[in-house]
Amino acid sequence: MNNLNDLRSLVRGPVLLAGDDGFEQARRPWNLAVAQPVRAVVEAADADDVADLVRYARDSGLTVSAQPSGHGATGDVDGVILLRTGRLNELRVDPVARSARVGAGVTWGQVQAVAGPYGLTGLPGSSPVVSVTGYTLGGGLSWFGRTYGWAADSVTAFDIVDAEGTHARVTADSDAELFWALRGGGGDFALVTAVEFDLHPAPALYGGRMLWPAAQAPAVLEAFRQITAQAPDELTLWADLLNFPGSPALVAVDATYLGDAAEGRALLGSLDRIDDLITDSRDVLPVADLGSITAEPTTPGPGLSRGELLTQLDDVAVKSLLSAPIDPLLSVQIRHLGGALARPSDSPHGALIEPYSLYLFGVPATREAAAGIRARQQEITNALAPSVSGRKPFTYLAPGETSATAFGPVAIDRLRKIKQHRDPDGVFRSNYPVLA
Ligand SMILES: Cc1cc2nc3c(=O)[nH]c(=O)nc-3n(C[C@H](O)[C@H](O)[C@H](O)COP(=O)(O)OP(=O)(O)OC[C@H]3O[C@@H](n4cnc5c(N)ncnc54)[C@H](O)[C@@H]3O)c2cc1C
Repeated sequence: MNNLNDLRSLVRGPVLLAGDDGFEQARRPWNLAVAQPVRAVVEAADADDVADLVRYARDSGLTVSAQPSGHGATGDVDGVILLRTGRLNELRVDPVARSARVGAGVTWGQVQAVAGPYGLTGLPGSSPVVSVTGYTLGGGLSWFGRTYGWAADSVTAFDIVDAEGTHARVTADSDAELFWALRGGGGDFALVTAVEFDLHPAPALYGGRMLWPAAQAPAVLEAFRQITAQAPDELTLWADLLNFPGSPALVAVDATYLGDAAEGRALLGSLDRIDDLITDSRDVLPVADLGSITAEPTTPGPGLSRGELLTQLDDVAVKSLLSAPIDPLLSVQIRHLGGALARPSDSPHGALIEPYSLYLFGVPATREAAAGIRARQQEITNALAPSVSGRKPFTYLAPGETSATAFGPVAIDRLRKIKQHRDPDGVFRSNYPVLA
């Protein structure tokens, strides 16, 4: 068997093989609940390193999986060469053209810090340390998706290395089929070295988190439903049931409003009338500080998640959700979708017509704890069954689920044909392969 030692002289970035100092650390994903039985970890120095690596893998019958950080790690990397993209750190913002170009290792927090002072924003989600590329290849559900749609819909070009190890620039005009697949179909079709995308106006942003004791959950969810039923596209609300260790159970509403603070606050008036508010971080917010709203951990840790899409949030669904503590889950989050996300999108996922998403999250300290978390996720999903659509956003998929869950039958068939055509020997492996 090829011992991969010759990789060290082939690429200029660091190469770590089993037995090397630092290999264990290098192969670890951001989600520490996932083990990664990879053969090697290569940190590409630049896009030419990526191309050299792909040619090497193709000629050796090996597989490459790109993993900027591993928020979406599944463990489906047995025997692969893991490609780290952190050194592909180009970041250019053109405030006049309202566009950005980023290397495959750049995070959303880095983009927002540069774009924000120009009154512009990208389309990040809750975490500033998720990579633009990994998130966007899965479609990308943003705080501002209701105003501007899928993050992938704002992409104008991808720089890629194809399965032959050749560089290409992929746009809607140069290669419509691959361009379509890359805007949400995941990392199965090419290695992306850079992404170019439109930025959007965000001259003013208001947002933050309101937090109450769990006893207020019925009132908070009622207000959440009322506000989201008539919210303008610029207003986005997420509701959270929280069960932090050492703390009494809590309920929160996270909000952003792309506009004036007074207008945003007025739209949230019914939440202001709920008693016992513990904290309220709502304020004028730089777009670079979006991550502070939910304050998710920015360092690696273990997590078990399950995502669903909801066709409604009716009385029955709310009653089921609140019928028992969420324990042993850490959080249950309901995001309001709709707006531009529900409009036509020429991407693998297409229009996201479900008005809400559900995200069930737990931290598995032990194997038994993991089983308990999975069981509670299943229980809540069963209780909400009449409202669960069965489809999931690609970036909400969890280990054990398949990419077909994210796409309709026509889209998954098209993605599979593109995979067979572009990567017939399976040089690339996504975290959720389309042929699985
Ligand atoms: C705390 C947290 C918050 C999150 N919030 C949101 C959110 O608000 N909205 C949302 O939509 N998602 C969200 N996600 C999910 C996240 O978008 C996915 O996990 C996504 O995979 C990005 O994570 P990453 O950058 O670590 O990519 P990784 O997990 O490192 O990579 C994911 C996959 O992307 C592909 N890929 C990555 N880079 C390349 C490349 N250069 N070339 C080819 N393929 C590539 C590969 O198939 C890889 O397996 C969140 C996840 C976490 C853990």
